[in-house]
Amino acid sequence: MKNSNIQLIDESGKRVDGRYPNEMRRLRIEAGVLKNADGSAYIELGNNKIIVAVYGPHESTPKYLAEPDRAVIRCRYSMAPFSVSDRKSPSPSRREVELSMVIRQALEPAVFLNEYPRTMIDVFIEVLEADGGTRTASITAAAVALADAGIAMRDLVSAIAIGKVGGRLVVDLNGLEDQYGEGDMPIAMMPQLNYVTLFQADGVFTPQEIEDAFRMVADPIKKIYREQKRALKKKYVDVVREVEKSE
Ligand code: UDP
Repeated sequence: MKNSNIQLIDESGKRVDGRYPNEMRRLRIEAGVLKNADGSAYIELGNNKIIVAVYGPHESTPKYLAEPDRAVIRCRYSMAPFSVSDRKSPSPSRREVELSMVIRQALEPAVFLNEYPRTMIDVFIEVLEADGGTRTASITAAAVALADAGIAMRDLVSAIAIGKVGGRLVVDLNGLEDQYGEGDMPIAMMPQLNYVTLFQADGVFTPQEIEDAFRMVADPIKKIYREQKRALKKKYVDVVREVEKSE
């Protein structure tokens, strides 16, 4: 994240991709896209394309990682070598290791971990194409994949970033805005319970801007939550149709 002379927002308030400050990118989520996983989801947020697979709850492997009173979530965020314009090395980078932890921590509060003692839940995130905001899109998709796996949850987790370009707060930075903007604040929430499960800030913000960011994020979080629910309902309507057809 660095300041630059690139004009990221024009006089009329339009951004480099034609969006207004409070507009998020086009969002599409599909649940249950993988046959061999217990739960799965595919998300497109603008040019981001990410697939998430959930396995579990299953017996803990290795056994010493098991907790007697709860499930352990393991999360692996991975960027495909072809997901960015410069080929990314296939070996896990420090960034991927950190994002795996951050995403896990954003999801954990939503899962009834105590329902599944001594087990493990694996969350595999594969970023196929990246264009800014992959951590928040991954959290949104992973919540759908966990629900699709039938895992008991308090709420879904819906996530998006609020960024700053040209001195203004904007919703959902794309890759270019992320690279040349002044900062970004990824936020994940349990939308029904109204709890924040992730808040990060990369850049310099005033306390007022942080307050404004939470006001600004409310509407996009509602939209994301609606799309998550739509994707989950559609999966089950499709399953019922298939069962009816086979009868
Ligand atoms: N990116 C890249 N190469 C990398 C890592 C990231 O081109 O090795 C790009 C990618 O588009 C990503 C963006 O930089 O979405 C911003 O990355 P950041 O670490 O801020 O995480 P994100 O915004 O994706 O959650």
